[in-house]
Amino acid sequence: MTLAANRADVVVIGGGLAGISAAIELAAAGRVVTLIEGRPWLGGATCSFIRRGLTIDNGQHAFLRCCTAYRELLARLGVAGSCSMQDRLDLTVLDGATTGGPAQARLRRSALPAPAHLARSLAGYRLLSTAERLKVAGVAVALQFTDAAPGDARSLGDWLAQHRQDERARAKLWDWLCAAVLNVAPEHADLALAASAIRTAVLAGRDNADIGVPAVPLSGLHGGSAVALLGSLGVTIRLGFRAMAVQPGVAGGYLIRAASAVPAQAAAPDGGIGGAAEDIRADGVVLAVPPGAAAALAPAALAGEAARWSILRSSPIVSVHVIYGSRVTRLPFAAVVGSPMRWVVDKTDAAGLHTGQYLAASIPAADEFVDMPAARLRELVLPVLDRVFPAAAGASIEDFFVTRERRATIRHEPGTQLLRPAFGLPGLAVAGAWTDTGWPDTMEGAVRSGRSAALRLITDLTDGSGPAMPGSASGQAIAPTTAVSGTL
Ligand SMILES: Cc1cc2nc3c(=O)[nH]c(=O)nc-3n(C[C@H](O)[C@H](O)[C@H](O)COP(=O)(O)OP(=O)(O)OC[C@H]3O[C@@H](n4cnc5c(N)ncnc54)[C@H](O)[C@@H]3O)c2cc1C
Repeated sequence: MTLAANRADVVVIGGGLAGISAAIELAAAGRVVTLIEGRPWLGGATCSFIRRGLTIDNGQHAFLRCCTAYRELLARLGVAGSCSMQDRLDLTVLDGATTGGPAQARLRRSALPAPAHLARSLAGYRLLSTAERLKVAGVAVALQFTDAAPGDARSLGDWLAQHRQDERARAKLWDWLCAAVLNVAPEHADLALAASAIRTAVLAGRDNADIGVPAVPLSGLHGGSAVALLGSLGVTIRLGFRAMAVQPGVAGGYLIRAASAVPAQAAAPDGGIGGAAEDIRADGVVLAVPPGAAAALAPAALAGEAARWSILRSSPIVSVHVIYGSRVTRLPFAAVVGSPMRWVVDKTDAAGLHTGQYLAASIPAADEFVDMPAARLRELVLPVLDRVFPAAAGASIEDFFVTRERRATIRHEPGTQLLRPAFGLPGLAVAGAWTDTGWPDTMEGAVRSGRSAALRLITDLTDGSGPAMPGSASGQAIAPTTAVSGTL
């Protein structure tokens, strides 16, 4: 794609799901949009790479039926059929801690209205005793009515302890559930967000927790399909192009200074794309990058708020990939309790493996594991897989490797909710799964934030030639440099 001009109605910075969603909305509303992404692909935190002929995702991504905005995005990208969505929640929960043969339970919903839809499953949850199940059911109901609000200093762990949920109830259910929705352990989880996420995902509607998983690699599901759709909507996509500053423009609007992320020595001989700075003028900006990058790029008028974004910490996810020489399970995916590994997903078909089986296991809330050598992770994970899938013990291992996402999501610890921004400036909207969406840092949150950022900008930019300069524009306007067109 060749850039004709360095002028756009709106520049979207960041090509993850938030930026993609914002760009789609803006372009569909008739705006001239340029999308800038520092990496050579769209999709952000959802991406894939090739290893020994297989397409490997950076981490396992699942979603629920209640993720309506994300599912609408899939439909708009034309890839809803590339995911498999359960008709009814049906989740096998494997106990990785049991050594006397495999122990498992099955969570299936009934046709009863919520929250009774899970009553039968919980009553038959064999990993807990009958008395423990009754207690868990009572606590789940109480969690719906907790008075916790954003800013509450209590963690979910504190609250569970107050409600006399012991180690076993934690190990066999709550730790898994908390990691699944917030990517942190209960003792680090913001109570208000945990309660609202568990309510939304599990308790608020009988079909909310039906699970969807991609049947194709993430790079095709999001990145590839987004390039095609955005191209058809006339969006200029600049991949490998990194924003370095966003400042109020001298004549209103904004000036975005950006440069190719390709190192200068790799530049084309004519200097065409090799790190030369370029300025793009726009009436509006969507800043859809992670919190640290957003804080660094924010104009001076946002400095006070941006300082708070930098306080947000992150929570890692480690993924362990095992290619077996033969099939070891028929389950498409399963939850695992009693182990740091929380999910196992069969990626055989999605990755393009023709013989054997490829299982990807996910370790969320992985502070303890993110720097662990692969050999040590292997010693830790393989015996658990042998326990939960007895056929694995006799299967050959053709490949074993680890992927680590250090900043997979923000760390949803108590107090975090007050640091997540809801607004930006006139004509500048902050987006991203980490912003104040009411959701945890998830694909659903990303899409929601991108859409609402776009709607805000459309309102800001309607009925005028663009937004006024930000009121307190204490930031220095940057002077345009020579424009350089890139060929992408
Ligand atoms: C391993 C893993 C597993 C996960 N599992 C799930 C799951 O099962 N379900 C779920 O819902 N969510 C899951 N998530 C979270 C989900 O992927 C994220 O919440 C979501 O993708 C974030 O989207 P985003 O657009 O807000 O941010 P990002 O995807 O981080 O996109 C931001 C983009 O901005 C770009 N950028 C940064 N700085 C600049 C700059 N200066 N100039 C230009 N571009 C820039 C980055 O390169 C990036 O592409 C998981 C995440 C990981 C890592």
